[in-house]
Amino acid sequence: MQLESIIGLEIHVQLSTQSKMFCACDNRNELMPPNTAVCPICLGHPGTLPTPNEAAVRAAIKLGFALGCTIAPRLKFDRKHYFYPDLPKGYQISQYDEPICSNGSFTFDGKTVGIERAHLEEDAAKSFHGVGGETLVDFNRGGSPLVETVTRPDFRTPHDAKSFLQEMQLLVRALGISDGDMEKGHMRCDANISLRPVGDETLYPKTEVKNINSFRAVERALEYEIRRQTELWKDGTAPAVSSTRGWNDIEMKTNEQRTKEAAHDYRYFPEPDIPPFLIGPLLEQCRRDIPELPAAKRTRFQEEYGFATQDARQLIADEALANYAEQVVSEFFEWVRSSAPDTDETELKKKSAKLISGWLLTKYLGALNDAGRLFTPDTITPENFAEFLTLVYLGKLNSTTGQRVLKQMIETGADPSQIIETEHLGQADGVALDRWIAETIEENPEQIEQFRSGKTAVLQFLVGKVMKKSRGTADPEEVAVQFQEKI
Ligand code: ZN
Ligand code: MN
Repeated sequence: MQLESIIGLEIHVQLSTQSKMFCACDNRNELMPPNTAVCPICLGHPGTLPTPNEAAVRAAIKLGFALGCTIAPRLKFDRKHYFYPDLPKGYQISQYDEPICSNGSFTFDGKTVGIERAHLEEDAAKSFHGVGGETLVDFNRGGSPLVETVTRPDFRTPHDAKSFLQEMQLLVRALGISDGDMEKGHMRCDANISLRPVGDETLYPKTEVKNINSFRAVERALEYEIRRQTELWKDGTAPAVSSTRGWNDIEMKTNEQRTKEAAHDYRYFPEPDIPPFLIGPLLEQCRRDIPELPAAKRTRFQEEYGFATQDARQLIADEALANYAEQVVSEFFEWVRSSAPDTDETELKKKSAKLISGWLLTKYLGALNDAGRLFTPDTITPENFAEFLTLVYLGKLNSTTGQRVLKQMIETGADPSQIIETEHLGQADGVALDRWIAETIEENPEQIEQFRSGKTAVLQFLVGKVMKKSRGTADPEEVAVQFQEKI
């Protein structure tokens, strides 16, 4: 029996608003001592009243638009009841039958994912299970605004589910509504998965996998579930009821937690303290606030600048880097055109993307990484980087001298022509090259003899000698050609 996997995701994103969802407490409180960013409202004291945070509502609307959802005309909250020490009110203010965003459709990299809903809610506090069986609760996180996005079960592979989660991170960052950092728990993911025989349209009881804390984990947890559930199907014991399992990243397996609650277990009812209100007036403003989205930007970087798929992906994953690259590209074209007015435009366009990605992504970011430094737009200004690329493009720097100039630029921030001048790194001129070759021929009679008798492998050695004399400024290919002419 051929089985296929039916996968859906539930993603909680913690919004990076200044204050919490229903009170004025500081929402950027992670570094604050436990239980200091709290007030009677988020601690659930009797007689207090929640007030919805407009910034959080705007963030949810923006995410909804970005995911192609319909935005509800009015905002309605509901109480979701359960008992746990991290939930002081005994219920969570969430949204049940009227989520702020619904029925979306999101396309990226040629794939479309249905979005069932995205709703606003408040976060629970954080429990710490200490040694000796005691549990401590830090209420700083309690009441933080969350948007929970529920996709349709449209993924067929763990890899696709992971890709969507990664895209979601790019999306919330581009929208400026969250940093989407999974390690910090600012983006949390539960994955639903069931299997079914290929051709069968039934949706069988699903298993919800919780405690997925990284992109890698979502893929591994789902792969594990596919193996586990495949065995059950083979044994004729496919899951008959929905259940919840927890992913254990160390044991690399999921463990049964409980059979899943149905919605009626939560005894949802409308939040009486927040009467529904209209949010129509916010919609147009929010729509205008939406920047170019990551998927569109990737396509543009490929089409407009000619970047390869992977390079475009890497560039746009970091907004600062993407902006930097765009500045570098436009400055680079200007530099080349003004320093070499007879430049072949077609040739320039064809070669520029590879040149830029090679030096920016591979060599520059590589050098920063080696030095344990992070990319910032002002280590090397876009102007200086563009000038540097121009010198490489016009053959004034070769790969070796280019790397040396780049290293100096990283260290000093100086402009490249200045570095070339003080370090005498300009491409070697013909006279000097003739001299170095002549010297090398004179100093290595034995190798010259070998070369003449047909041992051409020795050429490598001779070129190396010249490169050394030139301190890397000579062009090794040119040296090899000249050698063959001269001996
Ligand atoms: Zn509070
Ligand atoms: Mn939730």
